[in-house]
Amino acid sequence: MTNRVFPTPQTRALRKRQIRSDDDLESATLSPLMKLPVVPWYENGLSFQCTTCGNCCTGGPGFVWLSEVEVDRFAEHLKMEKLAFLKKYCRSIGGRISLKERKNFRNEYDCVFLKEIDIDEAGKIRKQRVCTAYEVRPLQCRTWPFWDGNLASKKAWKDAGVRCPGMNKGRQFSREEIEAMRDAEDWPDRPPSSK
Ligand code: SF4
Ligand code: SF4
Repeated sequence: MTNRVFPTPQTRALRKRQIRSDDDLESATLSPLMKLPVVPWYENGLSFQCTTCGNCCTGGPGFVWLSEVEVDRFAEHLKMEKLAFLKKYCRSIGGRISLKERKNFRNEYDCVFLKEIDIDEAGKIRKQRVCTAYEVRPLQCRTWPFWDGNLASKKAWKDAGVRCPGMNKGRQFSREEIEAMRDAEDWPDRPPSSK
């Protein structure tokens, strides 16, 4: 499962700590050569267009983390009281909030907002899995696949693409857009979209 095993706030915090300690180092001991900016492997950008296959919203057990403000957005979107929303759709894990999961008939763990619908294509019925809360999908769903772990190396990106057919297709993202997505603390402008 991809989408739901996410660079957690802890990993984000770790990265920030790393950046701070890099700054400290730079001002102290690095040689001029080591100060050269690092060119990431995705310097020329990457492409991604979600195909709405739904793979990232199911699979093994996972977590879809919500911030406080995202809980408010969900509750408002669903026209529910915040507490009612939390009780019905969320679970508490180590003091943090994640969406609940449901086990499907394939023994996979679906995000509680994943739904399988029938699409009629000229009389031929095709099953499709959709997010029923797409407008308020949380940060981690919005910024996939531009996560730290996937961007760590070409191999990591390729491995993630095994379950995500949208990777290396469609809309082109520049390095700046990729890193803005990776570092986003809240919903970014122009996130990847399935629409
Ligand atoms: S294409 Fe990728 S991001 Fe889109 S639903 Fe499938 S696995 Fe998820
Ligand atoms: S909130 Fe939507 S996009 Fe995110 S994991 Fe759940 S079903 Fe998938």
